[in-house]
Amino acid sequence: MSKRDLYEVLGVERGASERDIKKAYKRLAMKFHPDRNQEADASEKFKEVKEAYEILTDPQKKQAYDQYGHAAFEQGGMGGGGGGFGGGGGGFEDMFGDVFGDIFGGGRRGGGQRAQRGSDLRYNMELSLEEAVRGCEKEIHIPTLAECEVCDGSGAKAGSSSQTCGTCHGHGQVQMRQGFFAVQQACPTCHGKGKIIKDPCNSCHGEGRKQKNKTLNVKIPAGVDTGDRIRLSGEGEAGEQGAPAGDLYVEVHLRRHHIFDRDGNNLHCEVPVSFTLAALGGEVEVPTLNGRFKLKVPAEMQTGRMFRMRGKGVKSVRSGAVGDLICKLVVETPVKLSSRQKELLRELEESFDGETANKHKPKSEGFFNGVKKFFDDLTS
Ligand SMILES: [Zn+2]
Ligand SMILES: [Zn+2]
Repeated sequence: MSKRDLYEVLGVERGASERDIKKAYKRLAMKFHPDRNQEADASEKFKEVKEAYEILTDPQKKQAYDQYGHAAFEQGGMGGGGGGFGGGGGGFEDMFGDVFGDIFGGGRRGGGQRAQRGSDLRYNMELSLEEAVRGCEKEIHIPTLAECEVCDGSGAKAGSSSQTCGTCHGHGQVQMRQGFFAVQQACPTCHGKGKIIKDPCNSCHGEGRKQKNKTLNVKIPAGVDTGDRIRLSGEGEAGEQGAPAGDLYVEVHLRRHHIFDRDGNNLHCEVPVSFTLAALGGEVEVPTLNGRFKLKVPAEMQTGRMFRMRGKGVKSVRSGAVGDLICKLVVETPVKLSSRQKELLRELEESFDGETANKHKPKSEGFFNGVKKFFDDLTS
């Protein structure tokens, strides 16, 4: 350990205020911290600064140092746990933990838990599209911590009750000084609970709650979608010793539907139509959530055309707005043709031949002209 004057190490006057000592320390600790300073002696200096700081901000040690100098911390000087300060050389991890943790707000956090509020729980619920659109009621079973029925959640044996902790006066925390910050720590007497149970309930061993399977009826409002969460206040885990219960969040997941794809409040559906119907026009039956619906197909319809049916989608659970049903009509190529059918198709195709062939092919002419231009440009 260095024998330099501690005030000199920190660069402050003898009799400097605690605030100035802290300020100087903070500045030097930042300067010499080995994570920030690569110079060979930085770590030695950092240690020195830290030791000086620890003594000069501890009233008892400061008094001893002011009176006896370094001799106060020599063997047997300050009594207790090896005496001296710093114990020689803790690794830098230690230093980082307690020094920089404080300065930068990370690191340890003092503070205990009062009798804790129960945890929130999440339940993943799978729904069919129909259930989500119309709303439904579902029974769910969840393993959870429920209030102990023997002691009504107090944790104390019948006829007795818990007492306020005398050490922390029920706060569950006590204030300690650590470095130049006051740190809240869990009260060592009651372990942060704020009260003491002398006669714990036999059934829950003083916890006030017990593992149990709970059955709940959950009402799902119409219009929910994947990712929506329904909060059931107070249906989460019971709190410790009568503290408030947590909440239960039911998170909705929609199963894939065999006809409809849902996109927000809109529904998408792909409907196959024969190429005869697409050519001649007519009607096709499309499914909606409220039953079948006849859709008019215009003549000469090309494959992939979309038809929007306003108001035939899902009613939003939040805004009440109703989405649309969007049908994509896809022309189907006929398969498993008989020789007679093949003959008819060839006959039809032949009828397209000749000078007027392109007039029957709305896309071909433009496309092949484009292809020709593409190759012409390449070779020119
Ligand atoms: Zn206490
Ligand atoms: Zn109990």
